[in-house]
Amino acid sequence: MAPFRGNNLLRIFVTLPLLPLAAAGWAASSAGAAPAHSANQATTTQTSGTESPLPVFEMHSGFWVNLHHFLYLQARLLKGNSSSKEAGRGAAQPDELPVSLIDFPEADIRAWQDAVAFYSKDLAGRDLLLNGDMEIINNQLSAMETCPDLEGKTTQLCKSGLRQDLVEALERAAPVYRAHWWAQQDRANREWIAQVAPMIQKMGVELSGQLADVYQRPWPSERLRVDVVWYGGPFGAYTSLDPIHVTISSHDPRNRGVYGFEVLFHESSHILAGAVTAAIAREFRARDKPIPRDFWHALLFYTTGEIVRRDVEYGSMTLTYEQSSGPSGYLPYAARFGLYSGSWERFRGLLDLYWLPYLDGRVSFDTAMARLADAL
Ligand SMILES: [Zn+2]
Repeated sequence: MAPFRGNNLLRIFVTLPLLPLAAAGWAASSAGAAPAHSANQATTTQTSGTESPLPVFEMHSGFWVNLHHFLYLQARLLKGNSSSKEAGRGAAQPDELPVSLIDFPEADIRAWQDAVAFYSKDLAGRDLLLNGDMEIINNQLSAMETCPDLEGKTTQLCKSGLRQDLVEALERAAPVYRAHWWAQQDRANREWIAQVAPMIQKMGVELSGQLADVYQRPWPSERLRVDVVWYGGPFGAYTSLDPIHVTISSHDPRNRGVYGFEVLFHESSHILAGAVTAAIAREFRARDKPIPRDFWHALLFYTTGEIVRRDVEYGSMTLTYEQSSGPSGYLPYAARFGLYSGSWERFRGLLDLYWLPYLDGRVSFDTAMARLADAL
């Protein structure tokens, strides 16, 4: 069973952009918002000028997006997880207590609690993705990465345009976060980037081409913006499409080692899913059958997992973490973390039967889709 091979055209397409240094490899974290020692650390841990920039992705560890997600987490933890019971396939309950504020200066405690209370009121109950506002907040704060404030006090470029009460909450919390947690979380983000970087260097272009071929959609010509955050929501990662923006947690234990690499490409494959969802709709409509809920998403997990599994099997990737190995080599993310249960168990069996032959190059995309629709 040979690994799936894509055509060279796409390979060239994704390799072409050679980037200005500022945008190359991983971007520095917010210069204005980071403490001095963190900025120094950035120069030592970043890709140096002699190394090639990372292909496919542009990695960031940004102050404001990290603060935003951390406040979101703290507010959810404060709600005692009762009203914010994590739901959905692959959702994980945060496995921690709210941060301790013992021995903090009184003013810091008040500022932090005010900001968490603001998030608790409304934002903490929202999904990070299935809510236009949360996407806009994430995208805006990501763009504000190098801004010392969000109100344009230093430059108009740093005027976030976000609602005033949110800006106030974030700015109130910022000095406390910077003093107590940011350095450690920024370090964790950078370590996570350093861990996946060699895999991306080695296999990123190849894998992006393979996925583009499988999904019959071109991989985006620009490198994909990835914000690495300490907390990334109950699923450990999410992707918004307009603009394309991947957010992924460095702290989620599921995102370690090769799994972090697989998650990055699973998230990216959401960008390419259009032909799959269109084909599923077409085939099921033609048979007058209801479209099985989330079947397309199971197919995405299955596909990335299978391609990464083959890369591991063929020695293109090395398993570096104990959780990555099993008796039969790499166990893809969805299998490893229990996503194939209930209806997804059946999906997996049918994907083995009718989608795998397509990944092997033995049947066409349309044939595979038609057979799946017949069987489901
Ligand atoms: Zn997904």
